[in-house]
Amino acid sequence: MSLTLTAGQKYAHEVYEAVVRRDPGEPEFHQAVYEILHSLAPVLDQHPEFAQAGLLERLVEPERIIMFRVPWVDDQGNVRVNRGFRVQFNSAIGPYKGGLRFHPTVNLSIIKFLGFEQIFKNSLTGLPIGGGKGGSDFDPKGKSDGEVMRFCQSFMTELYRHIGPDIDVPAGDIGVGAREIGYMFGQYRRIRGGNEAGVFTGKGIDYGGSLVRKEATGYGLVYFVEEMLKTRGESFAGKTVVVSGSGNVAIYAIEKAQQLGARVVACSDSGGYVYDPDGIRLDTVKRLKEVERKRISEYVNHHPKATYHPDCRDIWNIPCHIALPCATQNEIDKKAAETLAANGVIAVGEGANMPSTLEAIDVFLGKGVLFGPAKAANAGGVAVSALEMSQNSMRFSWTFEEVDAKLKQIMTNIHRNSLEAAEAYGHPGNLVVGANIAGFLKVARIMLANGII
Ligand code: NDP
Repeated sequence: MSLTLTAGQKYAHEVYEAVVRRDPGEPEFHQAVYEILHSLAPVLDQHPEFAQAGLLERLVEPERIIMFRVPWVDDQGNVRVNRGFRVQFNSAIGPYKGGLRFHPTVNLSIIKFLGFEQIFKNSLTGLPIGGGKGGSDFDPKGKSDGEVMRFCQSFMTELYRHIGPDIDVPAGDIGVGAREIGYMFGQYRRIRGGNEAGVFTGKGIDYGGSLVRKEATGYGLVYFVEEMLKTRGESFAGKTVVVSGSGNVAIYAIEKAQQLGARVVACSDSGGYVYDPDGIRLDTVKRLKEVERKRISEYVNHHPKATYHPDCRDIWNIPCHIALPCATQNEIDKKAAETLAANGVIAVGEGANMPSTLEAIDVFLGKGVLFGPAKAANAGGVAVSALEMSQNSMRFSWTFEEVDAKLKQIMTNIHRNSLEAAEAYGHPGNLVVGANIAGFLKVARIMLANGII
């Protein structure tokens, strides 16, 4: 260890190394911890009381991890077994809050990275929600509705005992949309009795869901990037935009970007990407993905000028002014970032969680590209989830316009608070550092005030 490190840098690094030693098989979790802890050094230097209180050591250790067997029967009568997870990471600010992901790649490392990020993201929203995340290695793709329902019911038959409107409030994520939440909420209600609407967010509008929740992550991302662009006197109008993914976040990011006058030329799924020089027709994408559950490759059957390319990672070779990665973690590596920068990208906003590798982020920051990190830029989804919880508690619903206005204000506040924190701690314009510090400070103060727990 070099003698030139400050006390804060040394503390952050020691805690990071202890995490790697203790949980050696969790690379995604290490990546998330590294990214956050190493940006906190200026705060740790100013606040030695955080190290004295073992704050980082406590922060990187989840309050509780629940892992469980999820047995279910497929349509052929075969017994299938998946693994369920819920990581209740930090409840300093409020009930654990974070989505459930159903995807074959899900493992403890992925859920811990997502849960760890969620602590700071939820803090940034300014709303009373702690950090958690969960999911399963179940793949809903290609399953019948009956299979998805039986899986969701089995998943909830264990999870119900660990959650509640004031304890832990799950929502959707990759592979978990309105259908899956409907089945899980139904099973929870059946087991618990009564109707605790606030136990889930992302519910259907008819049974306690909030207007704008479906659109919130994508719209919020675009509102956040709009704020970034304003700092350089720019806007979405007339810009060429590339959006990866074609799920919930991607669809509503495309919708809002188009409403603001941008030309979105490409989107993707895990099979490949489509490029449409006339601009992506969102009605087609919504029909294919939200209604028919088909592959994005089918888009070209409806729009002959569009082309399909079977490697989704190549989407970043398309020249654009604004890139919005909205698919999955580590989808932009160093090479993709260099290509984007060489092609003149001016802003990158992370709709997905941790879509850029640490090296890619360094490229963007080094080249002066406006960069909106996930925990700030995609916080709109969980922010509206917290507004859904408020409406459930009040047994009252706000209009679309009311929720949308609150979302826009929250995204503007997150951008401003992150910029101010970056400035205050010596990294002007760096939203990665700013968002980490602003999110961390609130959690840290509460953890100090609540004693060693
Ligand atoms: P969806 O399941 O609705 O869509 C995910 C999209 O990403 C699909 O197009 C999917 O393609 C693609 N994708 C998934 N995994 C991969 C992969 N390994 N490689 C390439 N493409 C992939 O999920 P969401 O839109 O809800 O989530 C997208 C991202 O946004 C995730 O990182 C999630 O954590 C994050 N996020 C979501 C929030 C929300 O409110 N939903 C809130 C904040 C963040 P395919 O169909 O082929 O799998």
